[in-house]
Amino acid sequence: MFDLKSLSELEEFDNHKLVTFVFDKESGLQGFIAIHRGNGKHPSFGATRLWDYNSEESALRDALRLSRTMSYKAAIAGLKYGGAKAALLKNGHINRDKLLKSYAERVNFLSGHFVTGTDVGISDTDVKKMRRRSKFFVGVKTNPARYTGLGVYFALQACLKERFGDETMLDKSIAIQGLGKTGSELLKLVYQESSKIYVTDLNKDTLRNIKKLFPKVIIVSPDKIHFLKADVFSPCALYHTINKANVEELQFKIICGSANNQLESDSLADELYRMKILYAPDFVVNAGGLISVVDEYEYGNFRVKRVVKRVEVIKTNIKKIIRKSKRTGRSTDKIARELAEKTFQSYDK
Ligand code: NAD
Repeated sequence: MFDLKSLSELEEFDNHKLVTFVFDKESGLQGFIAIHRGNGKHPSFGATRLWDYNSEESALRDALRLSRTMSYKAAIAGLKYGGAKAALLKNGHINRDKLLKSYAERVNFLSGHFVTGTDVGISDTDVKKMRRRSKFFVGVKTNPARYTGLGVYFALQACLKERFGDETMLDKSIAIQGLGKTGSELLKLVYQESSKIYVTDLNKDTLRNIKKLFPKVIIVSPDKIHFLKADVFSPCALYHTINKANVEELQFKIICGSANNQLESDSLADELYRMKILYAPDFVVNAGGLISVVDEYEYGNFRVKRVVKRVEVIKTNIKKIIRKSKRTGRSTDKIARELAEKTFQSYDK
């Protein structure tokens, strides 16, 4: 347990619009829904995570932090929705079907102010089950990870154009960290063009399968990936992969990947800028999945062409951010944050 009096003093708390505790003893449901910003009658979007948090406090902190990131992501992608997130504890005593049912009921209770879908620990099948009880679950027709991967690819093209004068990966090397849902989507897209592809993952079975499907990849161990001499680094696994301990040693020209919160602290963006490493801000790059579920929510159906067109905004945004960064001599991350904040500052808190 933690001291509830201090909730508003948690460093992740950013004047959130609503933080709610969800609990149901019978099913083992326990966790938080955090809504960072709302925008009038429009709902706030954010996926639901079911994770082995070691305490209620760490789940709460995760929900607060990630809901804030979602506001940045939606605003910069030109979506009119605020950011939200749910973090549920998986404490070993859950009855999954009952938990999904009682969670869906609580989402209904928020009357559409919160729209959610799959994140770590919640499968597509879980979402489909909850969708039968609540229309505020999305991602049942689209495949968000595919469009997150595509968005990373579009962002990468903008970075390549800036650094090398050409959008293609021909004669360029890339190091991909993490070959899960999004990393493998990116790999598919760069595989034919790229001259050298280094990959790593903690899961040996994943690596074996990838090597079978994509024989020319070069597998490296997870602790070596940061120190390769490659043109591009694509973090598609963890948060805080770029940190104080490794930043000085990075030799990449571009960093562009799907992972959330890639930088351990905001000041590392300035460091990368000083080192002339072009960093594509994570929340701009990885908005493709969100764009695809928003599209499903708005149209009630799924059309590949329409979603691809919408995901292209990521490339336009990265180009715009790079231009402004060059003009003002400030990091791409700072520029992107300012642009997003300008948008959601007008939203109701
Ligand atoms: P995933 O769980 O499918 O894949 C992550 C992969 O990274 C796994 O294969 C795992 O074994 C590997 N991994 C974990 N730690 C590692 C390490 N230290 N070194 C190497 N590999 C490691 O997850 P995902 O859906 O691909 O998401 C990846 C990242 O992208 C996460 O940070 C996620 O929050 C972010 N993201 C995902 C989406 C989406 O649509 N899925 C959208 C936006 C952001």
